[in-house]
Amino acid sequence: MPDDLTTVASAPLVDQFGRRVTYLRLSVTDRCDLRCTYCMAEKMQFLPKRDLLTIEELDTVARAFIERGVEKIRITGGEPLVRKGMPELFERLGSHLGRGLNELTLTTNATLLEQNAEMLVQNGVKRINVSLDSLDPETFTRVTRRGKLDQVLAGIDAALDAGLKIKINTVALKHENVSELPRMIEWAHGKGMDLTLIEVMPLGETGEDRIDQYIPLPMVRDQLEQDWTLHDVDAGLSNAGPSRYVQVEETGGKLGFITPLTNNFCAGCNRVRVTCTGRIYMCLGQDDHIDLRSALRDSEDPHQTLDACLNRALLKKPERHEFAIDRRGEDPSLPRHMSVTGG
Ligand code: SAM
Ligand code: SF4
Repeated sequence: MPDDLTTVASAPLVDQFGRRVTYLRLSVTDRCDLRCTYCMAEKMQFLPKRDLLTIEELDTVARAFIERGVEKIRITGGEPLVRKGMPELFERLGSHLGRGLNELTLTTNATLLEQNAEMLVQNGVKRINVSLDSLDPETFTRVTRRGKLDQVLAGIDAALDAGLKIKINTVALKHENVSELPRMIEWAHGKGMDLTLIEVMPLGETGEDRIDQYIPLPMVRDQLEQDWTLHDVDAGLSNAGPSRYVQVEETGGKLGFITPLTNNFCAGCNRVRVTCTGRIYMCLGQDDHIDLRSALRDSEDPHQTLDACLNRALLKKPERHEFAIDRRGEDPSLPRHMSVTGG
């Protein structure tokens, strides 16, 4: 594979609906130190470590995508920071910044952020997403089934001190956090962080009833508008992906809404996901995938084989997702957890 990736983005990844893929979400592990009730079951069977792409393989996959015009990579999981070798991976990926890659970023639960914030900055990371569903220590521990809020808040402060920009992601949970959302939004905006609300998605068995957790975000927005003035931010200007943003007049900060169930956001989709075992999923809401790991491990010419895999994957990108929630709040066609595909 050539060294200078800027010279070779000759065959951009364009799907059959004319959408150009420029954004890769790369999962590095299915493991996590938390067990959020909407994401994982209490008892999880994690993959054997040998099934995971090695740090070197993750970099090879990333390079193949950058070579085909991917400009932004988000590292995700599971919890990416629990995997060994993250400093090496960020160093490798950071070296592609300015050479085809424009942005390297991370989604984390922030439990290990305090000790990793400087490492991220040193490798060119500028912005990260932190998932946080409550500022109440008891609710936080209940929702994550084991987390300690203090640890996460210390991680957030360390990252802000290190100069990282943070966006908070909060899953709206009918019985757990809806009443404290205004306080969370004020807290985030007070620290200069945007906050995005997410609707619970029907991904994988968690042992919980998702219908019971689910609250449609238009309903949450109506409630917020009783006290606040929300100004829609032009989608083109906000560069929002699946989020729709508003500016909250009273706090001066931005608030996003990700509404996969009430509002389909697929028309402008520019992203693909690669799991920690090297499967490309062209859509979070569908099970169709291509296996890059065997291409990497079994082929005599991994570069050419990877390229052919990307071409095949493009043909599989569907026009839109087809989430459907059954009576228990599961989508029977989507047995995999968000932590496997990479959130
Ligand atoms: N562990 C990291 C974290 O929590 O930020 C990264 C992986 S996590 C799977 C990525 C995002 O997916 C988190 O913001 C989490 O809240 C969200 N998520 C997980 N399962 C979900 C579900 N069923 N519905 C909606 N969001 C979900
Ligand atoms: Fe872990 Fe993130 Fe899933 Fe919570 S949402 S269990 S932190 S992977």
